[in-house]
Amino acid sequence: MTTFVDRVELHVAAGNGGHGCASVHREKFKPLGGPDGGNGGRGGDVTLVVDQAVTTLLDYHHSPHRKATNGKPGEGGNRSGKDGTDLVLPVPDGTVVLDGNGEVLADLVGQGTTFVAGQGGRGGLGNAALASARRKAPGFALLGEPGKARDIVLELKTVADVALVGYPSAGKSSLISVLSAAKPKIADYPFTTLVPNLGVVTAGSTVYTIADVPGLIPGASEGRGLGLEFLRHVERCEVLVHVLDTATLEADRDPATDLDIIEAELRAYGAGLENRPRIVVLNKVDIPDGQDLADIIRPDLEARGYQVFEASAVSRHGLKELSFALAEIVAQARAAKPVDETTRIVIRPKAVDDAGFTVTEEDGVYRVRGEKPERWVRQTEFSNDEAVGYLADRLNRLGVEAALAKAGARAGDEVAIGEEDNAVVFDWEPSLAAGAEMLGRRGEDHRFDAPRPAAQRRRERDVERVDPQKEYDAFKAF
Ligand code: GDP
Ligand code: MG
Repeated sequence: MTTFVDRVELHVAAGNGGHGCASVHREKFKPLGGPDGGNGGRGGDVTLVVDQAVTTLLDYHHSPHRKATNGKPGEGGNRSGKDGTDLVLPVPDGTVVLDGNGEVLADLVGQGTTFVAGQGGRGGLGNAALASARRKAPGFALLGEPGKARDIVLELKTVADVALVGYPSAGKSSLISVLSAAKPKIADYPFTTLVPNLGVVTAGSTVYTIADVPGLIPGASEGRGLGLEFLRHVERCEVLVHVLDTATLEADRDPATDLDIIEAELRAYGAGLENRPRIVVLNKVDIPDGQDLADIIRPDLEARGYQVFEASAVSRHGLKELSFALAEIVAQARAAKPVDETTRIVIRPKAVDDAGFTVTEEDGVYRVRGEKPERWVRQTEFSNDEAVGYLADRLNRLGVEAALAKAGARAGDEVAIGEEDNAVVFDWEPSLAAGAEMLGRRGEDHRFDAPRPAAQRRRERDVERVDPQKEYDAFKAF
């Protein structure tokens, strides 16, 4: 299978969130002021935005790795880190975004339509933001989250308003080169010897793109030649142009038969192409025999309802009329389209179910999956015991501890948080993981017990009501 530039694999990486800062305010006579570590900045997003001035995906073929900038870390004195800059990637109108499995993520149609391909990581909270009544001076901060990195595929179906169809050597490429004011760079089409030509034509105030469909031969709709691949380019074109060779020397060919055969291929391809408005160009009339044949065949084609133009890519005869006629059809088609220019659609990746988590067991390993627990793990600096304690607290509050116990996990069992290859693995210690409020009750977790006597409940409440600073100091000492 031939691969084309209009299908490009893109590796995007959003910016990482900046780390939070753990810092303590210091002042004369007040050696231990409050925590004043600022939050890390958000990592930049990678977004795709439709820009109608862009007509190809070639840029992305040449440099397929794109990364947004990282958020800056927070600093002392409650200074937040700067957010990363979003990376905006312009794409042509009609770009389809797929994930690695070929699933369509977005169909980008209309100027300004935006797709967030990679979301920047959240910045980590600094210790000032983490302080609470119970945790007055946190000696840790949260790490910034890594930005989302992923592989996407961009596919471009619409590259042209006008599609030229016709037998090989009818003169499609030649016509494009003489009609177009500019040629988007497509010459280094890398993986095939057949290059679809693309041109930008300016006729009066209308600017439109024109492409040929090389390799469209009898049998193309059944997969012969490469016509099918190229038909994908023009599926959404506004008008088809039959380029007929009036000067072919092949015995069994003449313009009318050529046209019938190409029409049959279009019908067989379907996809609505058979209903597109079409006009006929009798090309190569600079050759005397060609002009003669054009004169003979014209009434016939007009009787069949076609608007017929004569042209020569060599002498440039008839080009102006042709380009203005095409401009009119394109302009009409555009006007008929209900485009709301003021709407700017922003497509974000589907929000993950933020609420829950699951616990599963396999070969004695308990696996916790869920947006929150996994994010919290990423935010944790594991070399800092206090940060680990905070993580345990959060997991506990979400009910992870209880769920693990319910699933049958026992102290010392392996608990993995995250996906198969990318998990953080702990030896489960229920009492420790229950966090600071469980200090002094090591090895026993009252929340999993059956109904308890009132006296015991009071004791538990007392534990919970303990002075936060004392609790904190105890935790540090522990
Ligand atoms: P395509 O396969 O339809 O893209 O055809 P090309 O544009 O590659 O042209 C095939 C051959 O026909 C080339 O040798 C061109 O120079 C020639 N050709 C194209 N247009 C004209 C024309 O208007 N007059 C003459 N005399 N030759 C032409
Ligand atoms: Mg060609």
